[in-house]
Amino acid sequence: MMFADRARIFVRSGKGGDGHVSFRREKYVPAGGPDGGDGGRGGDVIFEVDEGLNTLIDFRNSRRYKAEDGEPGGKRNCRGKDGADIVIKVPLGTVIREAGSGQVITDMSGENRRVVLLTGGKGGNGNQHYATSTMQAPKYAQPGQPAQELELFLELKMIADVGLVGFPNVGKSTFLARVTNARPKIANYPFTTLNPHLGVVDLEGTKGFVIADIPGLIEGASEGVGLGHEFLRHIERTKVIIHIVDAAGTEGRDPVQDVYTIDRELEAYNPDIARRPQVIAANKIDAIYGAGEDPVDAIRAEFEPKGIPVYPISAVSGEGVRELLYKVNEMLEGLDREVTVFEREYYPERGALSGESADAYTVSYDPEADVYVVEGPKIEKMLGYTNLDSEKGFTFFQNFLKNTGILEKLEALGIQEGDTVRMYGLVFDYYK
Ligand code: GDP
Ligand code: MG
Repeated sequence: MMFADRARIFVRSGKGGDGHVSFRREKYVPAGGPDGGDGGRGGDVIFEVDEGLNTLIDFRNSRRYKAEDGEPGGKRNCRGKDGADIVIKVPLGTVIREAGSGQVITDMSGENRRVVLLTGGKGGNGNQHYATSTMQAPKYAQPGQPAQELELFLELKMIADVGLVGFPNVGKSTFLARVTNARPKIANYPFTTLNPHLGVVDLEGTKGFVIADIPGLIEGASEGVGLGHEFLRHIERTKVIIHIVDAAGTEGRDPVQDVYTIDRELEAYNPDIARRPQVIAANKIDAIYGAGEDPVDAIRAEFEPKGIPVYPISAVSGEGVRELLYKVNEMLEGLDREVTVFEREYYPERGALSGESADAYTVSYDPEADVYVVEGPKIEKMLGYTNLDSEKGFTFFQNFLKNTGILEKLEALGIQEGDTVRMYGLVFDYYK
């Protein structure tokens, strides 16, 4: 299918570079001190709105996006180079979800122009940091923090004030082309418009507004029949709906029935949308011939008592179009024009988004089990990459407890020699 307003991609931030283990080599000095440099920071995964983009088509060919890893530290305290961020450009109105759960991570609209989705791993400390009075030649350096990765589901929900709905060939594209700067394809068969179009209406004496043509809305669209379903999502953020019907019945359609059919589709898709203010544009009045009852009267008689105004127009000749647009503008002015921004539901494990520091840990006392409990992502990660059976690893672990302030907190809680401490799977006794 040609339509490209959804995409599934994989993103990965950069891994932090590992710290380096090395020792100074100087002439006439038998064993120099440690001089292993720190690893560089891994790059972030950043999303940015690009006003020039209207579809997610670019994501069909390119599905993996990786920031650069940080480089490892080097000899002579040489810090590794930071990995470059990756900046992914998306159209305004792109909702980014975690693919597995479907939960919203961020919605690239409103204030969200640039969002750091995943942060790169921190670089590891080189062995120069681990020298102590008892350990003057530390052979340990800290590994860089791992990368973070996510499968994402991107979905474009365009931002328009007004949505244009109606059966195929009622004149939606013709109308959009007449009243806005958009130049959609116009033809006499269904689904000529494969991408929804946005157009800006410049209306003298007003702020103007944005109209979206929601093409291909047909019976059964809400159940995913035909293309309709693909397009319905675009209507979610519109405030007012212009419902276009073919008042002249040029294809043998009954305009009154058409309005009800489309309303049923909207209702089934999202009852909220069906309740939004509507205007009916009774189009093609230039093609109404013959005596007898004016079909516009029948539409009016049906819908005006329900509070839905009916405007006879001709998208081809332009008749009645101004009156309709001013009416729509008046309806918009009475409404909250703030864009609906989807709320965040998913928090990547570590990142600017979560607002939570990767260093966070808690130290507590569990009176029932009579143990002290240390928890937090940093602890878990550290335990994951430390070999406590080796002497070096164990020394590093002890330094870690001291340097992070965990020991201090345990002591503040009143820990005594011989008391038990639990950290994830690890249980040990406390001795100074
Ligand atoms: P859409 O499928 O709703 O986008 O409809 P289009 O804008 O592509 O129009 C379908 C056909 O109806 C085209 O042949 C248009 O020229 C014709 N059409 C649209 N508006 C009018 C109108 O006001 N009067 C007449 N006579 N024909 C129209
Ligand atoms: Mg069209």
